[in-house]
Amino acid sequence: MPFNIAVLGAQWGDEGKGKIVDMLAPHVSAVARYQGGHNAGHTVYVQGRKFVLHLIPSGILHPGVTCVIGNGVVVDPEALFREVDELGRMGVAVDGRLRISEKAHVILPYHRELDVLSEARRGERKIGTTSRGIGPAYEDKIGRRGIRICDVLGDGDALAEAVRENVNARNRIIRESTLDWKPVYDDLVAFGERIRPWAADVSLLLAQMMHEGKSVMFEGAQATLLDIDHGTYPFVTSSNASVGGICTGLGVPPRAIGGVLGVAKAYTTRVGEGPLPTELDGPLADRLREGGQEYGASTGRPRRCGWFDAVVVRYSARINGLDALALTKLDVLDGLPEVPICTGYRVGGRTVTDFPADLRLLARAEPVYETMPGWTTPTKGVTRMEQLPPAARRYIERLEAASGVECALVSTGSDRAETIVRPGSVVARWFP
Ligand code: GDP
Repeated sequence: MPFNIAVLGAQWGDEGKGKIVDMLAPHVSAVARYQGGHNAGHTVYVQGRKFVLHLIPSGILHPGVTCVIGNGVVVDPEALFREVDELGRMGVAVDGRLRISEKAHVILPYHRELDVLSEARRGERKIGTTSRGIGPAYEDKIGRRGIRICDVLGDGDALAEAVRENVNARNRIIRESTLDWKPVYDDLVAFGERIRPWAADVSLLLAQMMHEGKSVMFEGAQATLLDIDHGTYPFVTSSNASVGGICTGLGVPPRAIGGVLGVAKAYTTRVGEGPLPTELDGPLADRLREGGQEYGASTGRPRRCGWFDAVVVRYSARINGLDALALTKLDVLDGLPEVPICTGYRVGGRTVTDFPADLRLLARAEPVYETMPGWTTPTKGVTRMEQLPPAARRYIERLEAASGVECALVSTGSDRAETIVRPGSVVARWFP
């Protein structure tokens, strides 16, 4: 079996997974997305050019790499074609390199409307979704009335029946307006024609590739703390962003996953609602937000910012079996007089070091900080550990000890080249 790795988010998303996947992509033959939809926003800079990927795996910028969208992903046809066309305009040929699971579910035009409505009905308790219809598409999947790519490509009568049933379900929820099923059906048929060459049994395709000795990288979207089961429920995404999603979302066996790399920022951010124990406000939050350009790639929303939370990353390490971390955005901390690391929470007179499930507990959790001295020499663009200021090295060491995972990669800027690969680390051993 070739060596296949997973790259996934260890915090609340936006950790810079796109950059890390793109950087490691030359070592693999395929990059496969296993969950989520076009709510993801992976920004990759290559020689000053900016590429924002939502649905298409971040391996697409490497011509020899096959990009796979698994059955665990929900596909919005319009968003998919927009992204393919945009990449085409930027000189990246997608055709012939993209494969989409015929079992993937389709996001229907009114899923977006349902998303907005559901958030409005929650009022104060809104989740802070991207309103792209992702959640409602997963609801239809679990409700067993979803429409899959193979349905779109199959028998017209069966598709018409499925669309009628799905539109009826929508009409029962949104009573203010009645939708006609026929235009939805016609659009789906047109979509099918364009997607047909890309549709595949991706489980079979990946099995064949592995059989031929070709390695695959599994790319996570969102992150562990947004996982529907292991995240801060209900302020989560609708899919399994953690490692378990790979098996169900692509049809690959657990043994196919040889290594797991967690991507974590050198601080913490989250977009949308829900708990964030180390959240800062005031000038320090602004400093991190501006320094790290913490605005959503998909929605432009400002991200909430806080110090590195080792309780969170240790939890992610356990859930995913992380072999190592790729620590990103170290450069954003340049110039701060001190950099605290959260090593536990004080809750009701007790110190907790395991991430709690109960959000009421989490809401009362007060971070316990270990404050490390900052550094003034810039780390931006540094490519070797020994070029880092000693205080930055000590910060990384303390963060590793508190999280229980080694930092195999340290990212010091948004470009591929601005990365430290630690000699002797697992990543250096995986990809000599
Ligand atoms: P993803 O969804 O996990 O891929 O993360 P995003 O793309 O939403 O956000 C990461 C952002 O941080 C992108 O704009 C990257 O170009 C940028 N980025 C990644 N690594 C670094 C780094 O080490 N330093 C800085 N300053 N920016 C980085």
